[in-house]
Amino acid sequence: MTDLEPSALSIPDSDALHRRGLMFILSSPSGAGKTTVARMLLAQDSRLHMSVSATTRAPRAGEVNGRDYIFVDQSEFDRMAEDGQFLEWAHVFGHSYGTPKAEVKAGLKEGKDYLFDIDWQGTQQLHQKMQADVVRVFLLPPSIDELRRRLTARNTDSPDVIAARMDRAKAEISHWDAYDYVIVNDDIEICYAKVAQILAAERMRRTRQTGLIGFVREMTAPEA
Ligand code: 5GP
Repeated sequence: MTDLEPSALSIPDSDALHRRGLMFILSSPSGAGKTTVARMLLAQDSRLHMSVSATTRAPRAGEVNGRDYIFVDQSEFDRMAEDGQFLEWAHVFGHSYGTPKAEVKAGLKEGKDYLFDIDWQGTQQLHQKMQADVVRVFLLPPSIDELRRRLTARNTDSPDVIAARMDRAKAEISHWDAYDYVIVNDDIEICYAKVAQILAAERMRRTRQTGLIGFVREMTAPEA
């Protein structure tokens, strides 16, 4: 090392210092690309952890218990809710869904960031309870025709089933005003890049960079 290189006062990696984690909520109607964007974020960012919800709906093909959801029956779900094990829970289109509390609360304290794939009701509850930690992002499909095309992709479904899916999507879209950020997903790569930018910017909020306090104090100390 030469004398010219910064040493003791080099800029610390604030993320390596202690900071509280944030709660990154990604919501959208189904067919708007939320699952794909969530997977891309988790694959690219080892500091981001998925919050795995409990649900009473049956597993779909390929879904793994404990990875995609914690699959429980209604009585187990009700017991968990009564026991105060959820940060939030809601009925969504005929099933119960809830965010388990223990892991997220402990992880946030350790500085882990969490990704939530939850609906607008859960978003509202988390925002009410933990406002300072919460970042709310909503994805919109590029057009209603494109959404219909995506929700019709499985051509075995009857017109009634497709109409019901469209109604659900429209009901979810109507709650877009409960979010901090809204992105129209007309290109998955661009959409992912925008979501990643939001996460990066939110991590840089001064109020979240508590690890920098000592560094700034040192920098602003009177000259000897
Ligand atoms: P799906 O059954 O298609 O996986 O999810 C249906 C809806 O439930 C989606 O909008 C999803 O975001 C929402 N959801 C999943 N987990 C939770 C949760 O823990 N709480 C709430 N409030 N909604 C959830």
